[in-house]
Amino acid sequence: MLQQTQVKTVIPYFNNFIKKVASLNALSKKNEKEILKLWEGLGYYRRAKNLHKTSKIIIKKYSGKIPDNFEKLKELPGIGNYTANILLALIYNQPRIGVDGNVKRVLSRLFEFDNSNTLNLFKTKRNGDLAEALMEFGALICKPIDPECDKCKINKMCLYYKSEIKTKFKKKIKIKIRSYDIFCYLKKNTKKITLTKSNNLSFLKKFNLPKIKETTKKKKGWKFLCKYKNSISNKKLNINLYYKFSLKTPSKYNWYYLKKNNEFIPTFTKKIFKQVLHLY
Ligand code: SF4
Repeated sequence: MLQQTQVKTVIPYFNNFIKKVASLNALSKKNEKEILKLWEGLGYYRRAKNLHKTSKIIIKKYSGKIPDNFEKLKELPGIGNYTANILLALIYNQPRIGVDGNVKRVLSRLFEFDNSNTLNLFKTKRNGDLAEALMEFGALICKPIDPECDKCKINKMCLYYKSEIKTKFKKKIKIKIRSYDIFCYLKKNTKKITLTKSNNLSFLKKFNLPKIKETTKKKKGWKFLCKYKNSISNKKLNINLYYKFSLKTPSKYNWYYLKKNNEFIPTFTKKIFKQVLHLY
């Protein structure tokens, strides 16, 4: 949940999630729709899908025991080098660290290089605690801008502290700006909209959306409703919303209520619902 998402945002989702899904076994028995519903609003839904798939594999293939082997962990959906290392350190106390942005910065400042061999420099029996402490240390003390070097307990061994030139570490995120036209088929009396999972969007592939296309000049037969902006991960989207009332169901589309739905609806689509409701 914390991938690309702030702790403050995650806490209520996490608490609700573990209340409803108390174990790996319980997770494996849920259907995907239920899991996506619990994740609704957090974004990056592939994380939820992978977590769910992984729980099923662990229960079936590994009798419910998370593998203690790096290669086997990496075969699981959604688990890359970072997650595999962190799981092995935290669960099995193996001498590994997960090198995320925070840890990379700490290691670069301390030793002027950044790879996990640095682990040899911290001899400990508490490998899990070390892996966790490095992440927390990077987030709270050795921060990207204005690290708290005077309070830092290890400043005597820090090359950055000793050096004259203080390199700044800033996460460089490339922002992409895109413009999309969204076309909504609506039912007049029942407040319904057609959605489809067949779309070519890379960032919301296979999720329920109205017809969506990169902006072109062709809009014949559609009425303009409004313009608004939406951000998804590193993308800033300029949206132009169009609509028409219709009774026909276009192929590959289904009707959904604009107000209440048991189905999972991504936040991106809910924002469209909000705009469309002004028409009623
Ligand atoms: S002295 Fe400063 S830069 Fe070095 S590890 Fe501590 S907080 Fe980070």
